[in-house]
Amino acid sequence: MQIVSSNAAMQRLAKKWQRAGALIGLVPTMGFLHEGHLSLVREARKRAGKRGKVVVSIYVNPTQFAPTEDFSKYPRDLKRDLKLLRVEGVDTVFVPDDKEMYPDRRDVPARFSTYVTEEKLSQTMEGASRPAHFRGVTTVVAKLFNIVLPDVAVFGQKDFQQAAIIKRMVRDLNFPVRIIVAPTAREPDGLAMSSRNKYLEGDLRRQATVLWRAMRATKVAVKKIKLFSAAVLKRDVKKWIETEPDARLDYVEFFDPETLVPITEVSPGTHMALAVFVGKTRLIDNGRL
Ligand code: AMP
Repeated sequence: MQIVSSNAAMQRLAKKWQRAGALIGLVPTMGFLHEGHLSLVREARKRAGKRGKVVVSIYVNPTQFAPTEDFSKYPRDLKRDLKLLRVEGVDTVFVPDDKEMYPDRRDVPARFSTYVTEEKLSQTMEGASRPAHFRGVTTVVAKLFNIVLPDVAVFGQKDFQQAAIIKRMVRDLNFPVRIIVAPTAREPDGLAMSSRNKYLEGDLRRQATVLWRAMRATKVAVKKIKLFSAAVLKRDVKKWIETEPDARLDYVEFFDPETLVPITEVSPGTHMALAVFVGKTRLIDNGRL
């Protein structure tokens, strides 16, 4: 397994693979890998084929964090990540640093001044709660596509809105890459796997299952009543979340899974997404009702 940290070296390698006719599969991550990430790696291998090349990028992207968020304390453990990826038979791990990705962005802003912005799907939910977040995501993913030159890139349904925005960016800007969205990997008690689960100490870990419990209760209610007012469901979800002493609802939304347009009358098939603070940790989850 090769570890590459320069953009130029990664691009050279990708071009060599292209000339040899190998398909390239990319899994972008911020590291501190868990079983959810590894399921994407297996999907990328399936799509690229035995003779193809699988690249995993590990980069905690500063432009997608607000100054008040957890960029500096985001969990990192490169040694452990590399060990896990070696077991999966990954060909190359791309680990650029900030200087490589954003040359002198803070000190000399003129040296980095081009961003990719999706203007519609990124207005609601995560985009409303974290205003500069998706601009950072689309910018770094566009850069990764230009550096790794993937034929296929795999993202997780865990970040449903992010996947929808990337699909839109690829379509709008004609990136020659196929986007695959893989299912959310969960802990046995339903909690969606996330690098941020590491922050959940003591009873907070138990309380964190409230996102899953609220989604399940909503699904049961919608299945029974068929057509439900979103306003009523939102009130119920808020109440449900706040039965846990350290949980606070940031948002819950019901929407069309293709357009992400909010829906006022919820029925089976509607998509639901929510963000909840459990202690200081902000968790997200989503699913089809
Ligand atoms: P992150 O490292 O959190 O930026 O995530 C990197 C990729 O892994 C993204 O495409 C995420 O949607 C995906 N991912 C994160 N958690 C999960 C999970 N529990 N199941 C499936 N995919 C996930």
